[in-house]
Amino acid sequence: MTESSIWEPYAYRVVSAAMVTPVVRELWLTPRRRSLPYLPGQYVLLSDAGYRVPQRSYSLANAPRPDGTLRILVTLVPNGATSTWAHGLRPGDDVLVEGPFGTFTLADESTGPVLLLGAGSGLAPVKAIAEELRAAAAGRRFTLVFSGRTAVDAIDRAELQAWDRDDPTFDYVLTLTRDPTTTHHAHVPELVPEMFADLSGWQVFTSGPPGFVTRCARVARELGAGAAIHTEEFFVDPQPWSAVMPPLPTGDEPKEIVQ
Ligand SMILES: Cc1cc2nc3c(=O)[nH]c(=O)nc-3n(C[C@H](O)[C@H](O)[C@H](O)COP(=O)(O)OP(=O)(O)OC[C@H]3O[C@@H](n4cnc5c(N)ncnc54)[C@H](O)[C@@H]3O)c2cc1C
Repeated sequence: MTESSIWEPYAYRVVSAAMVTPVVRELWLTPRRRSLPYLPGQYVLLSDAGYRVPQRSYSLANAPRPDGTLRILVTLVPNGATSTWAHGLRPGDDVLVEGPFGTFTLADESTGPVLLLGAGSGLAPVKAIAEELRAAAAGRRFTLVFSGRTAVDAIDRAELQAWDRDDPTFDYVLTLTRDPTTTHHAHVPELVPEMFADLSGWQVFTSGPPGFVTRCARVARELGAGAAIHTEEFFVDPQPWSAVMPPLPTGDEPKEIVQ
């Protein structure tokens, strides 16, 4: 195969699909031919093989692997076209990914400690970066703070707790905002100033719902992180001026997608 443009879609097949919280579905995808090259923290545009559903942005939740497998975490958005479709995907289904996109990545020249802040499926890009830091084993300190409402929202909890135990450079902090019985239940923007008096010299990455990301970035700025703050807001695409919801694709025929 000749060198292809990055704009050419990559054909992937679903190898596993499972709910990891009541609203987040985990998809593992395997390349049918070519593997998408990407950096931890980047995102792709995901669609079905016939472009029947609108392409939407999804962050990759794992660092690149030799076999090219991709992990995606999709939050179900009520009446959302693509997230509803993604929640119906089964092993064996074909999908298209385009990309990679985004600059939510570790700079080559950066060496300082890294603070990763995520909520919900916003865990995806910060987990990919955490995997990269863990694999590098460069002695660089990194901390991942994840926010959920209750224990059922704590994606990858057992794995991250195991990393925390066996890697002295890594700290995992879980805050459950609707469970006052847990060690941490403050919202991340309130928790971070309790954990850190000064973030100067730190690289800060925050991803997830726009309000969460904005508030985390503001706090990181107040604590001195300055220009080293990276944000990935999972904003929802603008909708057309219509009170009528677009129909979800049902048939096999490609249909025009109104956006
Ligand atoms: C860089 C980036 C990375 C992202 N990464 C992730 C990720 O890793 N995981 C993740 O889950 N999400 C991620 N997102 C969000 C994702 O791209 C989608 O926006 C999200 O899944 C919703 O898409 P949808 O097609 O399901 O919803 P949409 O169809 O876009 O609908 C969104 C909302 O608009 C309403 N709506 C739809 N049509 C109309 C209409 N005609 N009139 C009025 N209201 C309407 C729906 O009811 C719904 O509430 C990311 C976003 C960005 C920008």
